[in-house]
Amino acid sequence: MELINNASLKSFTTFGVEATCDHLYRVEDLEELRLAVQYLERPLILGGGSNVLPIGDIHRNVLRIELKGIDFVEQSNDPLIHVAAGEIWHELVLWALKHELGGIENLSLIPGTMGAAPMQNIGAYGVELESVFHSLEAIEIGTGITRTFTKEECRFGYRDSIFKKEAKDKYVIVGVVLKLSYDHHLNTSYGAIQDVLNERGIRQPTIHDVSKVVIDIRQSKLPDPNVIGNAGSFFKNPIILLQQYEALKDSYPSVPGFPSGANEMKVPAGWLIEQAGWKGYRKGNAGCYEKQALVLVNHGGANGEEILELSMEIISSVKQKFGVMISPEVNIWNQ
Ligand code: FAD
Ligand code: NAP
Repeated sequence: MELINNASLKSFTTFGVEATCDHLYRVEDLEELRLAVQYLERPLILGGGSNVLPIGDIHRNVLRIELKGIDFVEQSNDPLIHVAAGEIWHELVLWALKHELGGIENLSLIPGTMGAAPMQNIGAYGVELESVFHSLEAIEIGTGITRTFTKEECRFGYRDSIFKKEAKDKYVIVGVVLKLSYDHHLNTSYGAIQDVLNERGIRQPTIHDVSKVVIDIRQSKLPDPNVIGNAGSFFKNPIILLQQYEALKDSYPSVPGFPSGANEMKVPAGWLIEQAGWKGYRKGNAGCYEKQALVLVNHGGANGEEILELSMEIISSVKQKFGVMISPEVNIWNQ
């Protein structure tokens, strides 16, 4: 375990804001991690830092999870794969493609680690982690006891899980078991995937084709954190009552909406923010990305407060214009 005192979080988070933490431990060993969570007071857990915004300096111990390993647990047509929490998600996708295993090709190029993926049940292009999830192991902070969570116990929802609610800050996820498949059931109906496949003349796509298309679409629309700091979608898409959606549609006939459950609609927050005039807006070093209003960016040298302030202005302007409350998807660290 490597300890860095007074560590700069700039290079450990994709927003790249100026902030330090008192102690940053890079943990590669499970038993060292168990000891650390037993003895360190209220540690903060960090993976790839692609969904975290630190506000000011953090006077806490930060444990960066770097446990590695991808192994077959059970061989069958739908094999179970154990993935250590520190594995990079996209490298797992590439590993699955290399083994001709389907199920996560639509989730290509999502930044971050395996351990963080269950937190918000990562999702893109109509697929969520939940669809391939079997179980996970987590160590309880304070006691060091290992506990297994089944899919039901994780209580996955839309960009949500028990780890964002009752179990928040109580566990470190150390490994996840996924059920992938040699039988491929492609989902190409979402977003621009099918259009791009058509443009390329691909009539019978493989998981490799779908992954490639998803990567290309993402690279054309999303800012590369190595070039411009960001944490992907800063806000969640709000889910509102059907009745409220219908009233909104009366005033704004072009408002998009997708059914979500029996009596609710998901409204793309990016559309609301863009209509409220924020797309491409810049205030100091913080901004709203010019190609996708859902993404807030650090143009260089921004601190967490500047990004947070911009996000609050956007939230209140969307509320004022549409009467819809949007909220951050990004995890705000302010200690
Ligand atoms: P971090 O940012 O390090 O942590 C996120 C949260 O998880 C924190 O609260 C942290 O304390 C906690 N955490 C991290 N590791 C563990 C662990 N082992 N045990 C317990 N808690 C832990 N997300 C999507 O869902 N879909 C997308 O398509 C998508 N696209 C993105 C595109 C870009 C360009 C960027 C920058 C982000 C995108 N994201 C997307 C958000 C982000 O990639 C995911 O949320 C990802 O799962 C975060 O992983 P991480 O390892 O970087 O987590
Ligand atoms: P998009 O395809 O332009 O779609 C805009 C919004 O409409 C998305 O938020 C999406 O919701 C919703 N949508 C589109 N088609 C839908 C359908 N058939 N059914 C239900 N909802 C639909 O979005 P984008 O910005 O280019 O992103 C593409 C995908 O990558 C999305 O799934 C998005 O969630 C994901 N992504 C996530 C992040 C992140 O940080 N969380 C960052 C970048 C991209 P959903 O968001 O629910 O899919």
